[in-house]
Amino acid sequence: GREWHLVARPHGWPKPEDFELRETEIPEPGDGQILVRNIHLSVDPYMRGRMNDVKSYTPPYELGKPMLGGAVGEVVASGSDAFAAGDHVLHGLGWREYALVDADAAVKVSADVAPLSTYLGVLGMPGLTAYAGLLEVASFKEGDAVFVSGAAGAVGSQVGQIAKLKGASRVIGSAGSDDKVKLLVEEYGFDAAFNYKDGPVAEQLKQAAPDGIDVYFDNVGGEHLEAAISSLNVHGRVAVCGMISIYNATEPTPAPRNLAAVIAKRLRIQGLLVADHRGLQEQFVQEVGAWVRSGELKYRETVVEGIDNTLDAFLGMLRGENTGKMIVTLGA
Ligand code: NDP
Repeated sequence: GREWHLVARPHGWPKPEDFELRETEIPEPGDGQILVRNIHLSVDPYMRGRMNDVKSYTPPYELGKPMLGGAVGEVVASGSDAFAAGDHVLHGLGWREYALVDADAAVKVSADVAPLSTYLGVLGMPGLTAYAGLLEVASFKEGDAVFVSGAAGAVGSQVGQIAKLKGASRVIGSAGSDDKVKLLVEEYGFDAAFNYKDGPVAEQLKQAAPDGIDVYFDNVGGEHLEAAISSLNVHGRVAVCGMISIYNATEPTPAPRNLAAVIAKRLRIQGLLVADHRGLQEQFVQEVGAWVRSGELKYRETVVEGIDNTLDAFLGMLRGENTGKMIVTLGA
């Protein structure tokens, strides 16, 4: 099977030379292991951070070793009583065609309950991030006005819709294309949306939220965070989920220049890691699963085909080529 290896640590934007698609032998599962043929691979923004050799909440990818990431696949051989050939599983050994997975590290999923790709998106890690970030970290309550950046992406599109479904007074989103902006308002029910490439974010946000915002769900950082601080009302809350605008920066980026406003407005700015919120998993699957089934919560996926195109899919996602979750499909 083929698998992607990191062979050099990227400086700035990752380059194709930093990676290699290598052919390896398909192994046999030992005791307590399963051999999985991957069907869908996830490419996520956090993977950029793991390409750097810095201590973080997940260890860096090792040079010359296969990359890691979420994946859904089919068990083709099992050395574990818990799994049989034909079972579908979610696991963490993506970026490859075949994965030898410890049975303890695999979770059974069912294509009868939901399409397999959704376990990487709307019903998976990004979905839980949106749900927990809004409800637990941003302490969302009915009547709040919510602004979310990266609003047409996997996490952001769900944040805005969950806020609407839970009684937000106003939901505003920003995204990087006019088509995405249209989708937010016309399909996802956002009250207002703007293209951040059209002009200063602070001005566009003021226009979209004349009465200010109570919650900012940050996927982007930089200019967006500064604009949100200036539009936040007293006792506003910020869930800092991601700062994708600076993931490829080679120089330290300017802090929000208006940070002192935190004092007078008594703002709370809190980081969020989805791994801290596994306790919400069951409630999330029940509530969001029901909304997805009823059609009240909509989602999109951008699907790229073939293991060869995994790196392009990852880079394309960083450039905004995806609407909703970016998925690489290897074929059922
Ligand atoms: P998305 O599906 O939102 O894809 C990334 C999007 O980021 C692109 O589509 C692009 O959309 C946007 N983007 C890229 N560069 C910029 C830029 N310079 N300024 C503004 N937008 C930009 O990814 P996810 O939903 O998976 O992740 C969204 C965020 O959430 C990321 O920051 C990620 O790191 C974070 N995250 C954090 C987790 C946690 O536990 N803390 C867990 C999961 C995700 P556009 O066309 O609009 O520019």
